[in-house]
Amino acid sequence: MEANRLREISTSLIRKMFEIVEKAKKEGKDVVSLTIGEPDFPTPIEVVEKAIEAIKAGYTHYTSNLGIEELRTAIAESYGVSKENVMVTAGGSEALMNASLAFIEEGSKVLIPSPSFLSYFTYSKICRAKALEVKTHGTGFVPDLDLFSELMSREVSVVFLNYPNNPTGVVADAKTLRGIAEIAMDYGSIVISDEIYDKIYYDKKPTTLVDYENVVVVNGFSKSLAMTGWRIGYVVAREDLLNSMLKVHQVNGVCAPAFAQKAVAEVMFNREFEGIVSRIVAEFRKRRDYIYGELSKLYWTVKPEGAFYMFMDVQENCVDFAEKMINRGVAVTPGIAFGSGNESFIRISYANSLENLKKAVERIKAYHESKTT
Ligand code: PLP
Repeated sequence: MEANRLREISTSLIRKMFEIVEKAKKEGKDVVSLTIGEPDFPTPIEVVEKAIEAIKAGYTHYTSNLGIEELRTAIAESYGVSKENVMVTAGGSEALMNASLAFIEEGSKVLIPSPSFLSYFTYSKICRAKALEVKTHGTGFVPDLDLFSELMSREVSVVFLNYPNNPTGVVADAKTLRGIAEIAMDYGSIVISDEIYDKIYYDKKPTTLVDYENVVVVNGFSKSLAMTGWRIGYVVAREDLLNSMLKVHQVNGVCAPAFAQKAVAEVMFNREFEGIVSRIVAEFRKRRDYIYGELSKLYWTVKPEGAFYMFMDVQENCVDFAEKMINRGVAVTPGIAFGSGNESFIRISYANSLENLKKAVERIKAYHESKTT
């Protein structure tokens, strides 16, 4: 019998959409998938070559639970903190799970902006807490500080933040984010700041909340180095908070893959990281400009300033829209996968070639015209 804590959890709608697309493709349909949550580029050759060297050099066993020294040091330097504040994890997801199990108290409340990455709701359910959504639709997908203060109480154990944001691409301003961290501190709550898209931005630089005592920064290399399958994430936090998360990590991820840790450490030390990221961001910027330029003429949206997503109001039920669009050769993710209030929204991932994006835009335009004429 399935445990009670899993009762309200369904397997992700995003995965279901992925399966529908795969099925359509197998049936020979030409479907452009805009559902993908990862860069479409191959992992950069610099990382691949260093990983092969690392495997040959014997980086094929357990490492320390906390991660190899070189990688912890490289990450610590990039934040201006000590390596004692860094723990490497098996991807950002493991870091989020460790932080959730460490800090979400059973029966407490968890504040999650809506729309947000679906997993935050899942972590909250697994920890048997009550998710409270902070709706951001009326404020350009940035949480309103007054609304946030109203919802805040001593019962809130954890607040999730994620800017640049999945699914909106919004980069929240420093004043709001710092305001949230400070209010949370007054109430004794932990903020889990998921900064996994922090290197992928086009306009203003994202803010890190690393300097707050009550903040656990979650990050990783899945997105910035196009290496989702390698499972390298990390947390940066106060040492005592790190120790609490280590209690979970030692039985959860145990350690991230050794050769992948070594490859990332080398890339960071050789100062190759910035160059790789700027190549990736330059490509995403072209696509962002194209997709926003075309689709914002048809539907309401907020200009994405980071990550590789756009969230659009299609003014009809999002699941109906997604189903109709699959038949017209475009797969998108329905907004209901990102919390409530998103029933008429869809997420577009532009982690796809410009050629495919052009095809998708033509198909969406044709559908839009068929509805308006
Ligand atoms: N956080 C956000 C907001 C994400 O969108 C994702 C992946 O889609 C993750 C975390 C998980 O990343 P990882 O592949 O490193 O587990």
